[in-house]
Amino acid sequence: MVEHGRDCVPVVPPLVLPAWQTPGMSDLERLELPDPGRVLAIVAHPDDLEYGAAAAVALWTDAGHEVVYTLVTSGEAGIDGIAPAECAPLREQEEIDGAAIVGVSEVEFLGHRDGMIEYGLPLRRDLAAAIRRHKPDTLLLFNHREGWGYPGSLNSPDHRATGQAALEAMGDAGNRWIFPELLEQGLEPHSAARALVTGSPQATHAMDVSGGIDRAVRSLAAHKAYLDGLGDHPMADPEFLRMNAEQTALRLPGAPPGAGALAFELFGTV
Ligand SMILES: [Zn+2]
Repeated sequence: MVEHGRDCVPVVPPLVLPAWQTPGMSDLERLELPDPGRVLAIVAHPDDLEYGAAAAVALWTDAGHEVVYTLVTSGEAGIDGIAPAECAPLREQEEIDGAAIVGVSEVEFLGHRDGMIEYGLPLRRDLAAAIRRHKPDTLLLFNHREGWGYPGSLNSPDHRATGQAALEAMGDAGNRWIFPELLEQGLEPHSAARALVTGSPQATHAMDVSGGIDRAVRSLAAHKAYLDGLGDHPMADPEFLRMNAEQTALRLPGAPPGAGALAFELFGTV
């Protein structure tokens, strides 16, 4: 069977919990991040942040932290029944609407081609420029690993290229001798302290996001055209997020019953 227009979700979602999600297996360390500072989220597609990370974003904006979203594409290849020229503005608006629900008012689109993001120096330069423009303390990224953590899963090439390039752009942004043309644009070097990667099968930390789950569900629901396009895929129901967060909380020591958590692979320092 050929699957179309599902670039963000696995073709076959997990039917059983992987071994590390067995209740009682507390393998994640609590993320103690009292001050994330300025946060820049960099992802490939509209909806990448809404599949979980938005719950943390809601809590950070509640606490007064500024969060900016940078989307490498406009997600124009993500819906089988809607052609790219019509799809791009639709999905941009859904992203803007979803961001507003979790307190984010600045959303930018870099215009790379959906489904065909090329890993390489031009992408690293664009992402280094975004980091220098927005001067984040914390980068919020999406899974750059090969799979999702269960047998037979394969991550999207767009996610892998974007996540890998964003991690490398952290270093590029701090070095004035890499991409010197950025200096000519007035973009001085800037070093972020950390990157938090959601969706990674190699997660190391988790934070309790119970207070942000309802808004995260609404933020994903704002992607109505995309979710409609998923048809009967289990991840088309935004309530999927709540179940996922509850499963993640089982891996977090000390999380109370019914809590929701978000897992991260941490790069850098807290
Ligand atoms: Zn995606």
